[in-house]
Amino acid sequence: MSEVGNQKSEIKYSVLCFLFSVFCPLSSVLCLLVFSGCRKAEDTSYKPEVITTKTGIEMVAIPAGWLLMGDDNGAADERPAHKVWISAFWMDKYEVVQEQFRIYQLPDPSHFKNPKNPLERINWSDAALYCNDRSRAEGLEPCYDEQTWQCNFEANGYRLPTEAEWEYACRAGTTTKYSFGNDVRKLKAYAWFAENSSGKTHPVGQKKPNPWGLYDMHGNVAEWCNDFYSESYYKQSPDRDPKGLVEGEEKVLRGGAWNLSADSCRSSYRASDPSLNDTCLANDAIGFRCVRSAHNNAITQSNPEQNGLAPQISKTGFVYDDIYLEHKTTSGHPESPQRLVAIVEKLKANGLYPELLVLSPEPAAREWIETVHSLHYIERVKVSCENGTAYLDSLDTPISKKSYEVALVAAGGMFTAIDAVMQKKVANAFCAVRPPGHHALSDRAMGFCIFNNVAIGARYIQKKYKLQKVLIVDWDVHHGNGTQAVFYDDPTVLYFSTHQYPFYPGTGSKAEKGSGKGLNYNINVPLPAGSGDSDYIKVFREKLEPVALEFSPDFVLVSAGFDACKGDVLGGMNITPQGFAQLTQIVKSIAQKCCEGRLVSILEGGYNLDAQAASVEEHIRVLMK
Ligand SMILES: [Zn+2]
Repeated sequence: MSEVGNQKSEIKYSVLCFLFSVFCPLSSVLCLLVFSGCRKAEDTSYKPEVITTKTGIEMVAIPAGWLLMGDDNGAADERPAHKVWISAFWMDKYEVVQEQFRIYQLPDPSHFKNPKNPLERINWSDAALYCNDRSRAEGLEPCYDEQTWQCNFEANGYRLPTEAEWEYACRAGTTTKYSFGNDVRKLKAYAWFAENSSGKTHPVGQKKPNPWGLYDMHGNVAEWCNDFYSESYYKQSPDRDPKGLVEGEEKVLRGGAWNLSADSCRSSYRASDPSLNDTCLANDAIGFRCVRSAHNNAITQSNPEQNGLAPQISKTGFVYDDIYLEHKTTSGHPESPQRLVAIVEKLKANGLYPELLVLSPEPAAREWIETVHSLHYIERVKVSCENGTAYLDSLDTPISKKSYEVALVAAGGMFTAIDAVMQKKVANAFCAVRPPGHHALSDRAMGFCIFNNVAIGARYIQKKYKLQKVLIVDWDVHHGNGTQAVFYDDPTVLYFSTHQYPFYPGTGSKAEKGSGKGLNYNINVPLPAGSGDSDYIKVFREKLEPVALEFSPDFVLVSAGFDACKGDVLGGMNITPQGFAQLTQIVKSIAQKCCEGRLVSILEGGYNLDAQAASVEEHIRVLMK
């Protein structure tokens, strides 16, 4: 770090905004936060991501892939083994336990009472009803029609797994009798069954998990599936996401139970029970767990030739969703949805798109937004959008009805990318999101920015993954005043910005170095208008690299604005796409040296559609190397 301290300078934002709107009446800053990291060697010990839902239940991300379903040496109803493709989905890490069921004021039918024991003596339709209640509690669309009990697979809520999904998750890439191999003597370590259960169920999660981290897939209680049972099912099953018969009398059960033999706990073993029996007669060895579809391949893609084995992890992630186009700005505003359209078209036209792992974002939970923004502000954004207010805080930042929702997904896009990097699903990632973020202050929108995506991302890394030190590199042509303000007295986040100066938003002088414990952890390198590739590369090599290596971050984030590119509508700099490639290489190298290449970059500004798209392409090409 450098040596001198300084007081945080107070910037007259209102005056600057006024000046900005005078000189740039259509001002806009598009923020691309680009995440990038170094590539890892192929990793066969794939561990899917685990999330905790809004109602506090852990779920495992099950990647799409091929399943060899059934067993040619198994019972008649398990033959013939056949290959099916399973789309990605989320599955409960544990069987549903009694305390979770009681949340919804449903009478607990279990025989072996204990809050942490699996729910049992549950009939199929009550399990489906629980799925619907849990969906409603999380604002999701329920899957089950409560009259006909038909399942709507298009809904985004919880449901019971299909039989194929269940077996796919249980096998976790294996083709052996059990998820741990063929040696039945090992079953005691993985399952509660007739030989070791002492005639009862046990709290979930006490035995070893399967390779994907799912517990009690063998034994404890048998689990309801969504499918109607058919003995001849394996002879006629479709080859993609089979869902069982349309009608039937009995529903499929999988996984064996505390009162059953080792043979009944095999991955491909099938059983069934009447679907709508009386609760009083229901079996105390039958429970369930929930799944949720991952639409748009949200979890991952895998190589179809891998036969259900784990996907490769060396790709670069690309966070994008059409919802980002729903944040509408005023006509002629440079921060337009077309920016993202141009990027995606460019990547598709030049063949990069199929090489990326496209990650679908979800809205950030409000608790995470609150790590950077005041509750009052968040509520104000929400209400302003709902009321159809035209601008937020200044004429810089036009909003539309959906802008609040989109801004949540922009921040959530950071989380998707960070999670994917941390779970080693990707080597690094770029987030093609809008609205941008680096001007947004705790309680105020600025310069086209609503929520400060990169700042929220840094807090997410620190709190969720317990990684202490985050480096934020901001090469947007404008100074990231919002990001600077958030971390000004914080030594755990090194903020490095190089930008045109003097320029909007007026902050970003060399003298702004941080305060208190954060002194010298805020580094501004202002550059005169007209600076180009060689000027930026010199700054990155001589100023960024030494302090970054000394700081030794645990994660690197890039506020990747491309409005410093030659020909930008707002910026006055001259970086070429090849120049951005070199800057990317320097930042990527820092991540490789310090933190196993963990790097996520997010779009900030960039208003010349062609130049921005070309620059993003070169940026991503370096991430993919
Ligand atoms: Zn900018």
